[in-house]
Amino acid sequence: MAVPKRKVSKSRRDKRRTHYKLNVPGMSTCPKCGEIKLPHRVCRACGTYKDKAVLEV
Ligand SMILES: [Zn+2]
Repeated sequence: MAVPKRKVSKSRRDKRRTHYKLNVPGMSTCPKCGEIKLPHRVCRACGTYKDKAVLEV
């Protein structure tokens, strides 16, 4: 069985873990109401998408 020849240093281990992070949160704000919304989705707060009312309020 293959065995690592050297111990992975703290630096190398930690550099590898820089890729372990939480998923990108929905970081887009509605231009109409300023609410944080998911990109490319209708704003749940005011029901608009691209300046058009999509959802009835
Ligand atoms: Zn909105």
